[in-house]
Amino acid sequence: MPIEQIIKRDVVLKPLTTMKTGGAAAYFAEPSSEDEIIALVDYAKKNSLEYFVLGNGSNVIADDAGFDGLIIRLGNNMSELTIEDDPSDPDYKFISAQAGCLLSKFGNSAAAEGLEGAEFSCGIPGSVGGAVFMNAGAYGADISDIAVEVRFIEDGCVKVKAVTKEDFGYRTSFFAHDGRIVTGLKARLKKGDKEKINEYVKELRDKRTASQPLTVPSCGSTFKRPEGYFAGKLIQDSGLKGFSLDDSGAEVSPKHAGFVVNNGGKAGSEDIKRLIKYIQDKVLTDSGVKLECEVRFLGGKE
Ligand SMILES: Cc1cc2nc3c(=O)[nH]c(=O)nc-3n(C[C@H](O)[C@H](O)[C@H](O)COP(=O)(O)OP(=O)(O)OC[C@H]3O[C@@H](n4cnc5c(N)ncnc54)[C@H](O)[C@@H]3O)c2cc1C
Repeated sequence: MPIEQIIKRDVVLKPLTTMKTGGAAAYFAEPSSEDEIIALVDYAKKNSLEYFVLGNGSNVIADDAGFDGLIIRLGNNMSELTIEDDPSDPDYKFISAQAGCLLSKFGNSAAAEGLEGAEFSCGIPGSVGGAVFMNAGAYGADISDIAVEVRFIEDGCVKVKAVTKEDFGYRTSFFAHDGRIVTGLKARLKKGDKEKINEYVKELRDKRTASQPLTVPSCGSTFKRPEGYFAGKLIQDSGLKGFSLDDSGAEVSPKHAGFVVNNGGKAGSEDIKRLIKYIQDKVLTDSGVKLECEVRFLGGKE
């Protein structure tokens, strides 16, 4: 089938991001295979289009003006998950998922199988591909702790890389590089006590619900944790918890100062960016610390 047949035109990004911003993508496709991804990248190159790989859109602020290129969205169409024994050690199993699988499904499937180590991932609203790219993590663990192999596409070829902790950094990875598209993750997890694992999943979920504004659109933590500090604490110390510049809907969450939220989903990307800039300037003035964005920007200028 010619790849053009899966490409849609003028697809609005707002519903596809958890921050609920974004105009239309000129070209948009949800591939079902690695071959289709390769063909889409090829199509973009041949037509001089920029392309952007979108996962679950939980860490991107999509521009109000939309995106002039091709969005390659890895979601349901590439979301298979399998669990198999580790033939070299009966105490371990491998859990593999395609990039479009939700990370929560990945974590919950591991817990349901009685495998420990992926509990941290159950409450992170990203895709497996986005989580590998970002080295997503929470409560003292991250993807680098469990990943053994990553499938990805580079230069028109599918590659399989055995990974170690050295391939990941704080909210970044070897795969956070132009031209690398993650298509799958294989993790190795130890068999554990299913009841304890599920209790831990619940404990982390309760902690998250108590401390984070999960019912309001956001990208989670807006800023990376600066060395030796917590972004939320710095923002709170600057008196910005619950702060908004205007009635656009863009607000520093009154529940967690590290989250910029989009109340009612009515703020546009420009409103959010203006608030982010204001926070960065104020914290720099007050504490001398430069807050770097953890969120990524899609379309427009940062
Ligand atoms: C309420 C809330 C809570 C959150 N809590 C946490 C948390 O505890 N810990 C944490 O780390 N994050 C957290 N996040 C942020 C976010 O969920 C993670 O960064 C997640 O890993 C992003 O995955 P995604 O699929 O949504 O990626 P997207 O937002 O779609 O994309 C993020 C970046 O990854 C790239 N990308 C996505 N998929 C691929 C792929 N297959 N190949 C190559 N590049 C790709 C995109 O191009 C983009 O640059 C939270 C977000 C929200 C809204």
